[in-house]
Amino acid sequence: MTAPPRLVVVGASLAGLRAVEAARKAGFAGGISLIGAEPHPPYDRPPLSKAHLSAEVAPGVGFRTPEQLAELGVDLRLGAPATALDPDAREVVVGGADRVGYDALVLATGATARTLPDGRAPDGGAPDGVHVLRTLDDAVRLRAALDARPDHVVVIGAGFIGSEVASAARGRGIATTIVEAARLPLTRSLGPELGVACSALHARNGTVLRTGVGVDRIEGGARVEKVVLADGTVLDADLVVVGIGATPAVDWLEGSGIALDDGVVCDETLASSLPGVYAAGDVARWVNPLFGRSMRLEHWTSAAEQGAAAARNALDPAHAAAYSTVPYFWSDWYGSRIQFVGVPGADEHRIVTGSAEEGRLVALYREGDRLVGALTLDHPSSTMKYRGLVAKAASWDDALAFAAARHG
Ligand code: FAD
Repeated sequence: MTAPPRLVVVGASLAGLRAVEAARKAGFAGGISLIGAEPHPPYDRPPLSKAHLSAEVAPGVGFRTPEQLAELGVDLRLGAPATALDPDAREVVVGGADRVGYDALVLATGATARTLPDGRAPDGGAPDGVHVLRTLDDAVRLRAALDARPDHVVVIGAGFIGSEVASAARGRGIATTIVEAARLPLTRSLGPELGVACSALHARNGTVLRTGVGVDRIEGGARVEKVVLADGTVLDADLVVVGIGATPAVDWLEGSGIALDDGVVCDETLASSLPGVYAAGDVARWVNPLFGRSMRLEHWTSAAEQGAAAARNALDPAHAAAYSTVPYFWSDWYGSRIQFVGVPGADEHRIVTGSAEEGRLVALYREGDRLVGALTLDHPSSTMKYRGLVAKAASWDDALAFAAARHG
């Protein structure tokens, strides 16, 4: 490998850390700078909406101890964001002033929690008691707010993170309502029928789920007091969590000339439109060769894998390999595990064992005559079997035959 002398990675979280680790594992002995906006060393996000909110003692979430981080021999710059990219000079501007030169660059800035549009919160911004959940600092604030034992939690958005927060609040015995603007929850992630099937867990566990109605405004003085819905319903609320998705963190790249379209636009090898610049994780929109389509995932597994793949390709572009995957994510609500592999936009969904009523099922997703996805609800041992079938582009008939043999 003809190693360029300096690798710079922007975003010191999962994808960024995996990029650094992969570079060292590949024998790269040059300088590495890892630039992170947050003050914390790289940490794991999935526990933030699960054990961090529900366990008696919040678990540690750091990926590596300071000693283990030091072993990587990295110039770690935390607490100041990259503010601009100058591709002609091959420099990243950090904190508006410092310039860090690169030969190879990996962008791993992830995504930022969406907030309510202007006008939905009282003048002067959101009152106390209105939260989002993306970062460790968000999670620490939210845990403290739950520890204060609010009477009524309102979660805005019935996506995975909102649902996990609702599950944690109910687990503490707090009256919890989820408000979802779409008529059918989780349609984009799971398809309409199966989104409804999984969302049935809320009612079964005492969370009120109101769908098909948006939030008109949040009311309160210094503290939140009420959430007013578009149909005029007024919900008491002393804690509100806005869980309406995330947007790729690309603002700082505006003006750099890099191609952006709901993320950093990349080819199959995670190469961006700029020479020497690759992207990985939640910020990357790349062409997944397995499905022949462009996608941007917000899943732990692909972020980790893309971080490593992007670094290897950035350091050895002449031998850059395509990154291909069957998307995979999991989510834990009320003690149940939801897992999904593949893509949900399908011609047909079929439950092959179990049912929503049982709270345990496996459903397959068909596109044309091909198996493209599978949802398992509390069937963890089946998930990776179906992931293997999707990876092999198994036919629908073969997938049904497999399911019949497996589930009887
Ligand atoms: P991120 O983890 O978002 O990290 C990006 C980092 O870049 C951040 O630290 C950010 O501060 C930093 N950054 C941003 N802009 C700049 C800048 N200009 N300069 C420097 N640094 C910058 N996935 C699952 O599959 N299953 C789950 O159960 C699950 N649960 C989750 C629960 C929560 C609460 C959250 C938030 C996510 C969850 N995910 C889950 C998704 C998963 O954690 C993400 O896909 C993963 O963290 C993406 O990693 P990333 O490194 O691409 O981005």
